Amino acid sequence: MIAIQNYINGQFQAARSRSTLELKNPSLGSVYGSLPDSDVEDVLEAIQAAKAAFPSWKVLSFEQRFDLLLKLANGIEARMQEFVEAESMDNGKPQWLAAQSDIPRAISNLKFFASAQMNFPSESHHTPGQGLNYTLRQPIGVVGCISPWNLPLYLFTWKIAPALAAGNTVVAKPSEITPYTAFLLSTVCEEVGFPKGVLNIVHGLGGKVGQAIVESKDVKAIAFTGGTVTGRAINIECAKQFKKVSLELGGKNPNIIFDDCDFEDMMATTVRSSFTNQGQICLCGSRIFIQKIIYDKFKTEFIQRIQKLTVGNPATEVNIGAVVSEDHMHKILGYIELAKEEGGKILTGGKRFVPKGECENGYFVEPTVIEGLGHLCRLNQEEIFGPVVTLIPFETEDEVVSMANSTPYGLACTIWTENGKKAHRVAERIDSGIVWVNTWMVRDLRTPFGGMKESGIGREGGFEAMRFFTETKNVFIKY
Ligand code: NAD
Repeated sequence: MIAIQNYINGQFQAARSRSTLELKNPSLGSVYGSLPDSDVEDVLEAIQAAKAAFPSWKVLSFEQRFDLLLKLANGIEARMQEFVEAESMDNGKPQWLAAQSDIPRAISNLKFFASAQMNFPSESHHTPGQGLNYTLRQPIGVVGCISPWNLPLYLFTWKIAPALAAGNTVVAKPSEITPYTAFLLSTVCEEVGFPKGVLNIVHGLGGKVGQAIVESKDVKAIAFTGGTVTGRAINIECAKQFKKVSLELGGKNPNIIFDDCDFEDMMATTVRSSFTNQGQICLCGSRIFIQKIIYDKFKTEFIQRIQKLTVGNPATEVNIGAVVSEDHMHKILGYIELAKEEGGKILTGGKRFVPKGECENGYFVEPTVIEGLGHLCRLNQEEIFGPVVTLIPFETEDEVVSMANSTPYGLACTIWTENGKKAHRVAERIDSGIVWVNTWMVRDLRTPFGGMKESGIGREGGFEAMRFFTETKNVFIKY
């Protein structure tokens, strides 16, 4: 049994109350460890540690900070297989996916922001005849980073790396459903002698630990990735305190397929963009819009490919592993039932999958494709966050833009066409923070990342994140 501990002021410790939560392996459906069920007292202790560490951390040279962040990246890299297995065990995702994507991208986040802080420029503005302005971007102080379960270490480091690089100290809370790799990162901190109190990791429930971080007057900014409902509650609390907040929330992303696309490329990528990580990526294209002329061809081939996907033990070479928890599996299956009530036709999948052998009690859902639903029904408006996609035919550019923009969300969109003018036209009209043309989920860490509407507030990535994690001050000097 694994016993995860809090990491506060460089010390590993249980919750003060000694109370714990169960840690479950979703592919086996069994408990494999525990994590602290921390309380407000644990959070306050972490905040005190972060406050005490701030004065010395903020004045480190760029090179010193670079070296320390790089040590964390290299420390993860040196224990790659351990991190990969932990991520897969905690989340249910296939090990190959954690090895190809989650853990390497976590390492990249740390390396990227270690270097970004060295290249983060200050502006100056000359006011003719009067003087000179220059802009300082200074660390804010103690900041809170709260992350979800779908890409655990990847999104945890996406927050903490720029926060630390910008000179802040951090109180971080990973999801209580997938805390294992954040805990392993705290052991890397100890191994490499990361300064005490600079990064504090408190485990436990969102309503206790997360809320205590958000409510503390000593925490000057909150960077949150998670669901829209939680994001709204956090936003309200931050507004009361005029606290800086960055919210990366849910999505219901359109995948728009025109008849003049490169069919083979589109098909292979659409299988990935629909079902990678069991469809539990905020960027997955869950509404697939297909131009009518190629609708039947698309449907036949897509279903053939989906039926070949393998589901099962994430430690093996399967395409699809377990969804993250029993509750989440029931939520997804509930949406499939709703699809039927709303008049949808299940073209493939639609049920819980029970693998033979040791994973028979795990939480698996067949990759599911549904057609026949209007774009305004609940299934096409609400985020399911599982291996479920809908097919929706369209005729014209205007029609598809209007349907694509009809949800409360606006995170990401993919457009498939070989016509460059059309791609630019549609990209301009789509309400989403990220648009991919003829590809999906290609990430350049320098680019702004985030959503419109109920998909979030603010942008992270590159200098956007450095700006979020610093306070801006203009200084004017009279000639
Ligand atoms: P969630 O909102 O339930 O939880 C996210 C984190 O917030 C967890 O650590 C949780 O413990 C904490 N939390 C819960 N209640 C809180 C509160 N009242 N105050 C402070 N913290 C609280 O989300 P989840 O189910 O873990 O993640 C799935 C969601 O995340 C999906 O909606 C998905 O679209 C979204 N997501 C968005 C992005 C993005 O970049 N936009 C990326 C990944 C996931």
